[in-house]
Amino acid sequence: MATIEQRYHEKFPKSLEWYQRGLSLFPHHSEGPGKMGSSFPLAFDHALGPRKWDVDDNEIIDYGMGSGSLIMGHSPPEVAEAIAAQAVRGTIVGGSPMSGPTTHEVRYAEAVKRLLPAAERVQFALSGTEVTYLALRLARAYTGRTKIIKFKDHFHGWHDYVALDSNQSLGGIPKETLDTVIIAPPDIDAVRRILSQENDVAGIIVESHGAHYGSFPLQNPQFLQDLRELTAEHGVVMIMDEVVTGFRLSSGGAQVRWNIEPDLTTMSKVMGGGQPGAAVAGKAQIMDLLAFRGDPDWDSVHRVTHTGTFKALPTTAAAGIATLEAIAAKGINAKADAHAQRLKDGLNGALAKHEVPGHARGLASLVHINIGADCDCDRDLCTMSHDEIHRTAASFEKTRLFRQAMLVNGVDLMGGMGVPTFMVSSAHEDAVVDQTVDAFSQALQDLRAEAAV
Ligand code: PLP
Repeated sequence: MATIEQRYHEKFPKSLEWYQRGLSLFPHHSEGPGKMGSSFPLAFDHALGPRKWDVDDNEIIDYGMGSGSLIMGHSPPEVAEAIAAQAVRGTIVGGSPMSGPTTHEVRYAEAVKRLLPAAERVQFALSGTEVTYLALRLARAYTGRTKIIKFKDHFHGWHDYVALDSNQSLGGIPKETLDTVIIAPPDIDAVRRILSQENDVAGIIVESHGAHYGSFPLQNPQFLQDLRELTAEHGVVMIMDEVVTGFRLSSGGAQVRWNIEPDLTTMSKVMGGGQPGAAVAGKAQIMDLLAFRGDPDWDSVHRVTHTGTFKALPTTAAAGIATLEAIAAKGINAKADAHAQRLKDGLNGALAKHEVPGHARGLASLVHINIGADCDCDRDLCTMSHDEIHRTAASFEKTRLFRQAMLVNGVDLMGGMGVPTFMVSSAHEDAVVDQTVDAFSQALQDLRAEAAV
């Protein structure tokens, strides 16, 4: 019987060729062998609904879903048609000093506001990294303070102010910049202690469901409610990073699900409908620091600057509006959540059947899998401490082998620091979920044959 590694090589030979072809072209590929062990990543070519196809024409069920962007699956007809219709009507129609927000941008902001009551003002951008950067700049300008509290392991993109303690290397970041960031454990007493000792904190940024989209979950809603009260008490700007959870944990994200009103929200992924869409939204008194006032001193010295050639492009707005309207009217979240529940039950059933310790858990359309560690949680919010999740999470090598085993059985997954995640969409119908569970069962048996579980 061939090993998982051998089957991976047999199944994906052209991906290896494409990987080798790119080796000298892309700097990050030079880390490939180190990052991937003895293997290579796959080259995907096209996708539709819950599936994607690689260069060997293998059909793979996809739970990466554009790093969690595609809550309706790949190229849902209403989104694909909206992009195509706009592509022949102009791809950048603003972009001169006298052009204001375009019709697309206005309708896009209205679509965001309809789902997100806390969005008194909306500022579009291109990526999650860009909007977390902008939100911190706004918090600093609003409070006149410098420091930022960021939680251990929480990920907010790659810019200098959020790189610490987020599983990223720190090359090229000035120490002076890192010194403006305070890392806190996700523990409200620790935050209270920091705020009682430190009076230069401008803002707190939090991944709304915990590190890596809930792989290390916060005990919500209590944690966010406590954070809301504490930040208000200290005049600190509360930034809920809903780049992943936005429009996913509910039609209005974590904040609508749990009725929390942050000062600022950062969002991207789902709201872009597969296009580069992102936004900061929130309280008018903070957001309006971006506005011109006709006062030269304010406009050119104190105002918060944010520009961007490609922000809220008509094609992005078209995809975003089509997605947000479907979320508002077509029960997309309820469908995705029901598919995720079926998947969670199936995965837990397979673990029990094959007597492999572990558990699948998660909220809404996020399903996280801890292989190697069970707990007595309700399968929604894991109750293991974060240290315990870290300690029991599959090692890098084991996670890689698990991913390979899933891929040779036809399924791709999202990341999560040793706790892989299934990003479920409304397109993952019952038959697709059942096929996934069968693939998972087979993967467990393959791993057992190599004494890996
Ligand atoms: N914030 C969170 C919570 C994220 O998960 C991510 C990316 O996955 C980002 C910010 C950064 O977004 P982007 O990759 O679009 O820069």
